Amino acid sequence: MEPIQASLKKWMRENKNFKQQYVQMRESVLSDPAVKQLLFDHPELTTEQLDKHLVKLYEFTSQSKNCDACQSLNECDNILKGYTPHLYVENGDIRIAYDKCFKKIKNDEKRKKESLVESLYMPKDILNASIADIDHRDKERSEAVRKVIGYLEMIGTEYAEKGIYFHGPFGVGKTYFLGALANELAEKNISSMLIYMPEFVRAIKASLKDDSINQKIEHFKKTPVLMLDDIGAESQSAWFRDEILGSILQYRMMERLPVFFTSNYSLKQLEQHLATTNRGDTETVKAGRIIERIKQVSREVPLYGKNRRM
Ligand code: ADP
Ligand code: MG
Repeated sequence: MEPIQASLKKWMRENKNFKQQYVQMRESVLSDPAVKQLLFDHPELTTEQLDKHLVKLYEFTSQSKNCDACQSLNECDNILKGYTPHLYVENGDIRIAYDKCFKKIKNDEKRKKESLVESLYMPKDILNASIADIDHRDKERSEAVRKVIGYLEMIGTEYAEKGIYFHGPFGVGKTYFLGALANELAEKNISSMLIYMPEFVRAIKASLKDDSINQKIEHFKKTPVLMLDDIGAESQSAWFRDEILGSILQYRMMERLPVFFTSNYSLKQLEQHLATTNRGDTETVKAGRIIERIKQVSREVPLYGKNRRM
């Protein structure tokens, strides 16, 4: 008999605890200001309804609504991260609904914008670049800044069907300009693709046997805004120049899709550079054809100024 008695006692003890806890929970729920307000606004609510929804009301009181107190969305410890509850009455019954908090809304918007900027092998600081951070006082850069702002203002017109070919010395912020522009385009819901040319060439060569290569190239052809960073710094191969770069540029030229470039070479210098392949051949005509296409999809803009890497 002993074990049964013991477990009975245990059950009674726990049951008592349960009752106590229930009363405590009810009191704390009813003293919550938002619950009080709900009962004040809806005097028709009965005690039975209240008791029926006590767990729901408890859930409401246990969830944080004070989003200002969180430094970031990650700190949110609500059941659904970034969602805060509110109570309402529908058809005479108490209901609970969850809304996105302002931090979550902001975060979602930021993510959506980030998803509009695709990149291959680009450094992180470049992806956070912003036009507002470009130093306008640097006179040598002001033409380039004007051209970028002008471009943004002309979006939707024929002018914007051509991108910009930025050229100038190492470290002046050419790549930074591309990042800032990509983020500015994302603000306008236009997606772009930034590619660092030297890595791109290496990756294309490495994945030659890969079936996905054609799919990737199709993507580069069709993305609304393509940005090729550091053209001319890649190791030269006639095959890449003619079959990959040539075909991407050809397509974008026909479809009037803009391409942005950065380079240490002016177009004239790039022409010479492209004419010499890694086998030492000189291919002036083929290089000229690429330059012609670059001119069709972009406008040449020099970018000078101090070296920001020092
Ligand atoms: P480039 O492509 O011309 O060689 P980068 O764009 O890589 O030069 O810029 C060189 C360095 O200076 C990078 O670290 C970049 O983040 C920084 N930088 C460039 N422009 C700015 C700017 N306007 N404000 C802050 N940092 C900048
Ligand atoms: Mg660069």
